Amino acid sequence: MARLTFLGAAQTVTGSQYLLEAGGRRLLVDSGMFQGEKELRLRNWAEPGFPPAGVDAVVLTHTHLDHIGRVPRLVKQGFRGPVYCTPPTQELAEILLLDAAHLQQEDAGYLNRKGLTKHSPALPLFDEEDVREAMELFRPVPLARPQEVNHAFSFAYRDAGHLLGAASADVLVREDGRETRVLFSGDVGRFDAVLTRDPDLAPEADYLVVESTYGNRTHPELPVLDQLEGVLKKTFARGGVLLIPAFAVGRAQQMIYLMDELVTQGRVRAFPIHVDSPMAIDATRIYASYPEASKVSLNNIGGRSLLHGKWIHLHRTRAESEALNKMKGPSVIISSSGMLAGGRILHHCRQRLPHPENTLLITGYQAAGTLGRALLDGAHVVRIHKGDVPVLAEVRDLKGLSGHADAGEMMRWLSGVRGAPRGVFVTHGEAEAAAALAARIERERGFAARVPEHGESFDLAPGAAGGPGPEVL
Ligand SMILES: [Zn+2]
Repeated sequence: MARLTFLGAAQTVTGSQYLLEAGGRRLLVDSGMFQGEKELRLRNWAEPGFPPAGVDAVVLTHTHLDHIGRVPRLVKQGFRGPVYCTPPTQELAEILLLDAAHLQQEDAGYLNRKGLTKHSPALPLFDEEDVREAMELFRPVPLARPQEVNHAFSFAYRDAGHLLGAASADVLVREDGRETRVLFSGDVGRFDAVLTRDPDLAPEADYLVVESTYGNRTHPELPVLDQLEGVLKKTFARGGVLLIPAFAVGRAQQMIYLMDELVTQGRVRAFPIHVDSPMAIDATRIYASYPEASKVSLNNIGGRSLLHGKWIHLHRTRAESEALNKMKGPSVIISSSGMLAGGRILHHCRQRLPHPENTLLITGYQAAGTLGRALLDGAHVVRIHKGDVPVLAEVRDLKGLSGHADAGEMMRWLSGVRGAPRGVFVTHGEAEAAAALAARIERERGFAARVPEHGESFDLAPGAAGGPGPEVL
């Protein structure tokens, strides 16, 4: 009987990795990095519960590191099969994995230099060479095109919204002449989101593996353009600089688009936007090269490419970045990292936070312990690069840009499923969020839903093609 094992994102939001086994073959759906608490991060180093060389293929849902970050290590450990993903995911994965390798090599080097590690020497989880080897195995598969993997598995991608290239994986498992359809949601985006398209509704399936990042939450209705217009006008009236820390893939493009939209609508006079992040520049070019994959083409706004607008300035080199220190407002600087955990944004913070005419605009979730969280909580002085920096600039929070469907939107996504599946597995959420969504699915839809534990396996009864099987859940 086919078997499904949960090797990540079980009662947590990171480390997505699901193992399907049937007919002597193995397929991994996602292979993401664990992030956050040390106890979770240590799992990145654990021996996998399967022989990597014995995995036939990996199917990736999208390019976020918590879905792809364990791929280079898998390759290092002997995996040689194809890594399937959508075409934009392939391009974005290369820049994100290379950046992650670079950061890990830097961290390991720092720990070794300072003698701060019990391991001698401290090693990165993977390096740039590992990423290049892994990228050789990537095979792009467009949305909605059925892809044969082997006699046991085939799949097709469905649009999941969420991020450029993000998809749900609709997997068909064949064993003993019988078929079982297993739908992996991946990360499901919001309906009516900025830039990303609405997710395709879930299809009929024998089993569903469903994300629950906001399984117990409802996003407030807040018009993003109105908020942003207010922040821009107030900052510019003071002659200030608006500093926007933004994740280089996804959020940076949304922010550029929103500001362009305000200018196009005549709500704000044109102003210079400085994109100070080579990764954000590369990612924006990739966005622009897939005009059909987003709701709005970044390549053709008012007949021109967004990146080539007269008011957009791109900064790749360190010297260009430093030259911004002398710049006066009104203007905007977009830089990463999004949680102010590192990167060029820190230099800009050191430069701009001590001056009351400026504004720092937070645009996404800030984890506990990050500089972004401290600033949102109203810190008057923060420590950056070993120096105390007084915070006199205004700090604002732009709400409403979440990349994830909330609980109600997940139910809307599930409305595509008419017949009761044999089972729904709720993953990719903290324990309470996952339990809340599972309970809601049972209550409102009458589907058998459960929250698997890390490492837990389930036998999958064959689906309609094989006649009624036993209820597994
Ligand atoms: Zn994601």
